[in-house]
Amino acid sequence: MNYKNITIAGSGVLGYQIAFQTAFHGFQVTVYDITDENLEKAKTKFNILSEAYQRDLNATQKQIDATFKNLNYTSNLAESVKDADLLIEAVPENPKIKIDFYYKLAKVAPKKTVFATNSSTLLPSEFADATGRPSQFLALHFANTIWIHNTAEIMGHPKTDPKVFKDVVAFAKAIGMLALPLHKEQPGYILNSLLVPLLSAATALLVNKVAEPQTIDKTWMKATGAPLGPFAILDVVGITTAYNINKIEADKTNDPLKIETVKYLKENFIDKNKLGVSTGEGFYKYPNPAFQDLDFLK
Ligand code: NAD
Repeated sequence: MNYKNITIAGSGVLGYQIAFQTAFHGFQVTVYDITDENLEKAKTKFNILSEAYQRDLNATQKQIDATFKNLNYTSNLAESVKDADLLIEAVPENPKIKIDFYYKLAKVAPKKTVFATNSSTLLPSEFADATGRPSQFLALHFANTIWIHNTAEIMGHPKTDPKVFKDVVAFAKAIGMLALPLHKEQPGYILNSLLVPLLSAATALLVNKVAEPQTIDKTWMKATGAPLGPFAILDVVGITTAYNINKIEADKTNDPLKIETVKYLKENFIDKNKLGVSTGEGFYKYPNPAFQDLDFLK
């Protein structure tokens, strides 16, 4: 493994998970965020996360203690990156914030440091120039609840050095990820390129009054052997996200179906605080959703 020191920029929802997972696998990790207050919050979240590692991965106290020893914190960007072999950027999904971050980072990072963005919806080529080192830049995209849903999609842009790409694939494996290399840039990577059309098709069947959500889920589950149907997945993703994606599309295209979908989700779910698993109800009621009943597919 060519990397030893890893910096994680941004300690929000995904950043703190990436930091802990990387430290858990024996790397020296520096967590960088804009304020010391955010870093203090991250420390509290690490304590809660360590319980999840013990519960879900049977991590031992010794492993957890070693993980905490591998974690360092600073709100000084130059300090955070001074020894870094790899910096993983998990700052907010806002092109202006990301570009501004890369301009500042480029000024203080050593030549050897490889930069990787965890952006979900933006392409690495949009920031390649701002990094000042396009050949040492690519996307390394994790999923929420990284310790259980351990996928890492690795996606370069046309100027990424193939050696850098290979090293990042090896790093992803070294931190316990299922490494999923893409050959070219693709908005939504592999997962969302598959998932978003499936979820849209399911919502269209519902809004067009073709069938009930449970009938649609049963069809998908029985016919493909999948453990969840599209509406159960929507409950996990959160109906607010589905609403936001449809709203952006509706505003952009004026497509009557999208407009109807936005109205449907707002009236039936958003306004009633039925936002999915997080609020205890979405298309199903939790903690015992109907699709988990033994008779659901009979
Ligand atoms: P978040 O808003 O929870 O966290 C962002 C963090 O970055 C905050 O701690 C904030 O203080 C910090 N920050 C803001 N400006 C900064 C700067 N200039 N320098 C350093 N830190 C800064 O966001 P998130 O959900 O963790 O998302 C971060 C990235 O990860 C986004 O690109 C997002 O697309 C991607 N991502 C998110 C998810 C998810 O489920 N939330 C999943 C996969 C990928």
